[in-house]
Amino acid sequence: MSISQNSYLGRGVLAQLADVIRRASPRSVFLVKSPGAYKASGAEPLVEKALAGLETISFDSFTPNPKWSDIMVALELLRKNSCDLILAVGGGSAIDIGKMVSFLALQPSAPETYLQAGVRPAEPVIPLVAIPTTAGSGSEATHFAVVYYEGKKYSVAHEDILPRYCLVDSSLTDSLPPLWSAASGLDAFCQAVESMWAVQSDDESTACSRKAIALAFDQLAVASTSPTQASRDAMCEASHLAGKAINISKTTACHALSYTMTSMLGIPHGHAVAMTLGAVMAYNYGVGEDDCNDPRGCEHVRARIDEILQLLGTTDIEEGRERIDSLIESTGLTTSLTAIGITGAEALEELADGVNAERLGNNPRKFTRDGILSMLQELQSRSHPGES
Ligand SMILES: [Zn+2]
Repeated sequence: MSISQNSYLGRGVLAQLADVIRRASPRSVFLVKSPGAYKASGAEPLVEKALAGLETISFDSFTPNPKWSDIMVALELLRKNSCDLILAVGGGSAIDIGKMVSFLALQPSAPETYLQAGVRPAEPVIPLVAIPTTAGSGSEATHFAVVYYEGKKYSVAHEDILPRYCLVDSSLTDSLPPLWSAASGLDAFCQAVESMWAVQSDDESTACSRKAIALAFDQLAVASTSPTQASRDAMCEASHLAGKAINISKTTACHALSYTMTSMLGIPHGHAVAMTLGAVMAYNYGVGEDDCNDPRGCEHVRARIDEILQLLGTTDIEEGRERIDSLIESTGLTTSLTAIGITGAEALEELADGVNAERLGNNPRKFTRDGILSMLQELQSRSHPGES
């Protein structure tokens, strides 16, 4: 990584924003803020205090899952005002917009150029301070940004997209509604679990994901249903660590399968990813030499899954799968495909057709389309707690 990140993690760290800004000594600041979360999280007074006396241009007219047109409006505004520091306060969408304008602002080529993989920036990026108000995506710790161009989802990846600074203050998540706490927390948990078995994982990513799994498995139900400060703190740490883990390892089959559920049925991202986590874990556990994607071999893959099982408090794969389902149900969300509207064979075919092939290459066991379908059929036919 060419950029090293200065991260501040813990309850109350937003009070250090003034110091961060002073060190960057900007002429003017571009502030990307989530329309709702900027106020609701309690970030507003602390951020305004840290920005007192500085010329600040604010941008908050965007919708979740940032569209290219939103980013272009932000980019024009930033360029017109020659801002030289960017603050992004909010959920994954605000941080993604912050990342994109930070990356694009000084580049001479047309912005669309950078949607293609591997295009290097000719000019430096503008420093970005990421301040998440949810505990889930870990976007503050990753070097990729999700954008929608002409209705198609792109993940723009470059090492310079990693925010220069991040302040992860758990007090900003205290007022998160239960459903958001559950869905975003499940994203963190799934990202950590998928990172453990990802082909691109290494020792550093594994150290982060182990810790994130343990924290989230222990605290997610509490944070979702009857939050305490300790559970909020733990979920923020889990989310940040899971972000650091996938920054190295990337995600795998559960993420690849999730996007169609989100785009077609509006299932929140973290919930959509969690729907297939147990089934993919069991599938990956059955890896053999003939269908192993990981050059470290199938023994390595199974050892990583044994470690996940251990973190879930079991040695048995079926029991581990049930513990994942129980965790999801304990947040108040369902594990039933039927209950979220995926009924019948056609819906399963659509899910299988919607997968991102690049992410499947990072899954430790190869998938064929038939393999995906039979896994989904088994998942659809399982009985679920609460169903008779
Ligand atoms: Zn995710």
